[in-house]
Amino acid sequence: MKEWPLPNWFEELPEGPVYTRNVPLADYTTIKVGGPAEAMAEVTDWAQMAALVKWCNAHAVALTPMGKGSNMVIRDGGIAGVVVNLAKGLDAVRVDGNVLYAEAGAANGTAARAAREAGLEGIAFFGGIPGAIGGALRMNAGAYGFETFDRITRVWVLDADGEEREVAPEFLAPRYRGTALPMGWLYKAAEWQLQAGDKEEIRKQMQEINRARSTSQPLHMPSSGSWFKNVVRDGERVNAWRIVDEAGCRGMRVGGAQVSEQHANFFVNAGAKEGTPGTAADFEALSQMVEAQISEKLGIVIEREVRFTGVE
Ligand SMILES: Cc1cc2nc3c(=O)[nH]c(=O)nc-3n(C[C@H](O)[C@H](O)[C@H](O)COP(=O)(O)OP(=O)(O)OC[C@H]3O[C@@H](n4cnc5c(N)ncnc54)[C@H](O)[C@@H]3O)c2cc1C
Repeated sequence: MKEWPLPNWFEELPEGPVYTRNVPLADYTTIKVGGPAEAMAEVTDWAQMAALVKWCNAHAVALTPMGKGSNMVIRDGGIAGVVVNLAKGLDAVRVDGNVLYAEAGAANGTAARAAREAGLEGIAFFGGIPGAIGGALRMNAGAYGFETFDRITRVWVLDADGEEREVAPEFLAPRYRGTALPMGWLYKAAEWQLQAGDKEEIRKQMQEINRARSTSQPLHMPSSGSWFKNVVRDGERVNAWRIVDEAGCRGMRVGGAQVSEQHANFFVNAGAKEGTPGTAADFEALSQMVEAQISEKLGIVIEREVRFTGVE
């Protein structure tokens, strides 16, 4: 694997976090591809995080936040600058009355279960999305007709100076699988206004969601979940898997990367199961082939939901 040479800023990084050079990132993602982080920061509190955000922006060193890496395909050359994994802390979850508060590093499932245990409904769909709150906010993650921002009443961010700010949810312009967080900013936490419900009903709902996912999705294979965004065709929203299927791409393969036979909108790391894991280059090539075939056969320009990050 490629190694980054010692960057001239490494010794200057702010005190507090533990920094490690050349950390392989594949294991920090659910699809199991990706080269090394030039530097990885282990941050244990928000004051350290704020100082790091401020320093990186002031010194023009890229800072890439990662949650569970369940929506990221990290390129084989890795990520320049500092990568910070928020899922290793910074993860408070609290329920107060009908309000759920969760910080960026908390797993979506932890937040969903905290709401359920408090008998609050409206966020059960989160239980099946294998990411952390920061990634869910960034992506406006959603399922079964619900989106992360639907019931959010308050959001806190760190701005480019590392200052904590509360911003109105509308300021972040949540849309289908995206938000407009300004460059250099980071999601810190959010609050959801939920409604009282029956704990057992919510438990059943969450079990049903998990059951439905495990029958329709290749959860036994490394993947990044939905590869493409759904498509609007003749004014109607069409699931991306249908489009991939109609174009005849189910099962297509490049190296270790494959369009899942089980769910045509999941690209899986089939090679990882065979001892020769796919690379980010395999996934890029496969995606380009599928996109070209969809364009040629159906005249549709399909957009990726997964985020390719880093250098080749
Ligand atoms: C099996 C499977 C099923 C899935 N099902 C769904 C689904 O039903 N619906 C859905 O929407 N998604 C789904 N996903 C995709 C993914 O789980 C979601 O997008 C999730 O919200 C991403 O969270 P994460 O913590 O893994 O983010 P990451 O992949 O770590 O990061 C995603 C992006 O957010 C940025 N980011 C992370 N934290 C922060 C932060 N604190 N501030 C600013 N930016 C940040 C990262 O830099 C990156 O650009 C699925 C994935 C898998 C593997």
